[in-house]
Amino acid sequence: MGLRMKSELESIAPGPSTGRAPDHRRSPVSSARDKAGGESPASPGIDCRSAAASAVLSQLKWDDVFAEAESILRRLIQFETVNPPGNERPAADYLAELLRQEGFEPEIFEGAPTRANLVCRLKGTGEKPPLQLDGHLDVVCADESQWTHPPFAADVAGGYIWGRGALDMKQMVTMSLVCMLLFKRLGVRFKRDIIFTAVADEETGGTHGAKYLVDNHADRIRAEYCLGEIGGFGISKWGKTFYPVQVAEKGLCWFELVARGEAGHSSIPDPDSSLIRLSEAIIRLGRNGLPRHDNVVAGHLAKALLASQRFPTSIASAFLLHPRLTSLVLNRLVPESEQATMLSAMLHNTASPTTLRAGGKTNIIPAVARVEVDGRFLPGQTAESFLAEVKDVVGPGIEINVLKKLQPTTVDPDDPIMGAIARVLKNHDPQAVALPVMISATTNATHYSTLNTKYFGFSPVKVAHHDSFRSMFHGADERIPVEGFRFGIRVLAELVEEVCS
Ligand SMILES: [Zn+2]
Repeated sequence: MGLRMKSELESIAPGPSTGRAPDHRRSPVSSARDKAGGESPASPGIDCRSAAASAVLSQLKWDDVFAEAESILRRLIQFETVNPPGNERPAADYLAELLRQEGFEPEIFEGAPTRANLVCRLKGTGEKPPLQLDGHLDVVCADESQWTHPPFAADVAGGYIWGRGALDMKQMVTMSLVCMLLFKRLGVRFKRDIIFTAVADEETGGTHGAKYLVDNHADRIRAEYCLGEIGGFGISKWGKTFYPVQVAEKGLCWFELVARGEAGHSSIPDPDSSLIRLSEAIIRLGRNGLPRHDNVVAGHLAKALLASQRFPTSIASAFLLHPRLTSLVLNRLVPESEQATMLSAMLHNTASPTTLRAGGKTNIIPAVARVEVDGRFLPGQTAESFLAEVKDVVGPGIEINVLKKLQPTTVDPDDPIMGAIARVLKNHDPQAVALPVMISATTNATHYSTLNTKYFGFSPVKVAHHDSFRSMFHGADERIPVEGFRFGIRVLAELVEEVCS
């Protein structure tokens, strides 16, 4: 996922370390399966939560499951899948072999040479459409000199598994794989197929990854729901643990502003030069910002935050129904700048100037000046309506050229899966509150949503209070708390069971 989202998530509770190097070929479910009545699949239409699956999940030897999962995650981290160039094929082959050993028939589709996308299906009865579990295999680069433990060694130390990809997002790839293995071994037949995708190239836009699958193998990945990034990391505040769930992604519109004027000798200043007019436009954009827009996701988030503070719901709702008061209330109740920034980003389109180009000689006034701008716009809007706002702010005489655009994505924050997420979280963390959020980055959601898949960013992990997610995503010393990873495996397995039953 893109960089900017990381700042929108923070963290929670640590755990003891385990230095074991487990043998992932053991089957931690065999004894539980025996108790549950052997290998034969449950009959079609069975409510697996109330019958076979939940009984078996509770009896699993979870320590063995965790050991197996930790071994797989560590091995995955050791594949250097830095994108570019990615080279995800060896990691995908490794996963495919694990799946084949269990009787699956995984497929690998290369979006380009060595850019491997693994797709594997656990068949259900077909009574409900499939659930997709998605993770990307590629990671961003790592400057080893800045790391406490080498980024591709997958060391276990101090209660953490260290390494690039430990949080973004080989942990979700591993948890999803473990769900596939567990339910296959248990012989559970859900109402939904489960489709596991481990894809290439997310970090540079997904052209050879999710987009390639959508464009070329849609039949293999069509699903009602997809669980992926970004979200699921606990944030401790006010005695609660908030678990953000990505339900919306802002659209992207990169553009350039261009000012044109007369070239001339700079010994005679020109107050209307391209450079000066462009500078004025940049200042207006930077200082004034863009108008506020209320939207359903920001409303849900605000309501959940207020409710968590025992703020009387009726009063909270009254405030929130009054658009002009929402920001005021939130600013007073959510004084932390990081949360305020997140809420602000959910209420506004944004435009950040990043790259300035003009002139080449000190004594020549340039005829053309340009600035590239990173624009992000809210769900429900278009690149065109966004650019109209930009045009109003920068004023006349400035060209606007679009460089790249991606549609925003959004799903219903009241979808039943949100209730399932909240229930399962509470089973493992009584203080849990599931929070629907919008992110400013783009993820694979942008591609899968073109198939009408409802994409929810939820890769559950419990994180220590003192860990800063912002610094670990794409930063040095990326690591996952061992206990937080274990928490995530149980939460994801139970969620899959509930959704697919
Ligand atoms: Zn990611």
